[in-house]
Amino acid sequence: MRLHRTEKSFMIYLVLLLGAAVCAFWANDVVFAGFDSQSVPDEIATGLIALRVELGLLCSAILVGTFHFYPLLRRQTLEHGEWREKYETLNQKSQTFQKAALTDPMTGLQNRRYFDDALAQYMEEFSRIERPLGIMLLDIDHFKSINDTHGHDVGDEVIKGLANTIRDYTRHHDIAARVGGEEFAVVAPNVGIAELEKMANRLRLAVSNLVFNLGDTVRLKITISVGIAIWDGEETGAKLYKRADGNLYNAKRGGRNKVCA
Ligand code: GH3
Ligand code: MG
Ligand code: MG
Repeated sequence: MRLHRTEKSFMIYLVLLLGAAVCAFWANDVVFAGFDSQSVPDEIATGLIALRVELGLLCSAILVGTFHFYPLLRRQTLEHGEWREKYETLNQKSQTFQKAALTDPMTGLQNRRYFDDALAQYMEEFSRIERPLGIMLLDIDHFKSINDTHGHDVGDEVIKGLANTIRDYTRHHDIAARVGGEEFAVVAPNVGIAELEKMANRLRLAVSNLVFNLGDTVRLKITISVGIAIWDGEETGAKLYKRADGNLYNAKRGGRNKVCA
């Protein structure tokens, strides 16, 4: 049986009471042994009565403690342990749900909700320290024709492959999210427009070099278009997103497989 800390403390308390009772009993014996029952002086007899009352009280305290307080304490400790276990299980479940609510299940990247919250948080932080904050939006070119030609499952594999490349080509404090079917967004803190454009182009090139092997003969390649924008320090997250989306549209109109700022 495993004892809780409060139970151990209570045991020590009982042992001390028991020790006091043994001492009282011993003192009674020692004093009484010095006199025969007729020759006990009055003040010693009074002291002995007090000692026996004390012994009685100590024994009662030990009995009440052992058979009344200890079972109560044990029950409360067990109940407390059960509640604690339940609380911890619920807490773990809630953390798992919370994570699931903010993660895209297909790619493991964050979802749009997480992206919007993270962007808002970064904007609040960066308005204080006056450092540049950029975002990029990217979309697979002619993705419908991939689905139409090779099927939806292949389309899914392409989306996962792109997500892995995005993960490889972003830094650990960037926030990468899948914000639509084959659309992704990245919050990139601490980069100016030139550096963000370089980052986007590196990613675009890496994606254009990806090869998806479909069976023995078919090798599928893809390209992406990217729109980037740097926060002007005033606009809302939605406005910044809209500007980047406008640039993505320009990249599509400009022939695709491009980065537009
Ligand atoms: P564009 O170059 O203009 O972007 O052309 P597009 O064909 O890629 O056009 P669009 O971006 O509008 O295509 C989105 C397509 O993505 C439509 C939809 O069928 C497909 N899609 C959306 N979500 C998924 C998904 O989870 N899996 C697969 N396989 N396809 C998806
Ligand atoms: Mg799209
Ligand atoms: Mg597309």
